Amino acid sequence: MRRVLAFLCLSSCLCGGFFFARRTSADDIAERARKLHFSSIVLDTHADTPQRLLTGRFDLGKRDAEGHVDIPRMREGGLNAQFFSIFITGRTLGPPAIQQALDQIDLVRQNVQQHSKDLTLATPPRKSGTHMLRARWPF
Ligand SMILES: [Zn+2]
Repeated sequence: MRRVLAFLCLSSCLCGGFFFARRTSADDIAERARKLHFSSIVLDTHADTPQRLLTGRFDLGKRDAEGHVDIPRMREGGLNAQFFSIFITGRTLGPPAIQQALDQIDLVRQNVQQHSKDLTLATPPRKSGTHMLRARWPF
């Protein structure tokens, strides 16, 4: 009987300790992850947001009910740099596809200019068709 009691006592101590340590550990990890995130340079390597600019109803500077990327969310999420994709569906071909791509690039440039207090356009040293936005707020 003593062995059974000792086993039960040891088991409950281990389980309680494990539960408590795990709970504390999860809180610690979340806090450490938050600190790491907000003290790092955070880069998102893909957003299809330029397509939304084609609608004429989307403003990068305002929180939008749809989508995931806009300046308020970028700021809140500590996003420091964003690659915008220039995407054309496979149904659009030839000169219209090229025009749509050029229109998206122009709209990205216009939005960066319009929100120059928050954004700057970072272009690569050689032309690759890729443009990256870099936030102006500190991290
Ligand atoms: Zn995409």
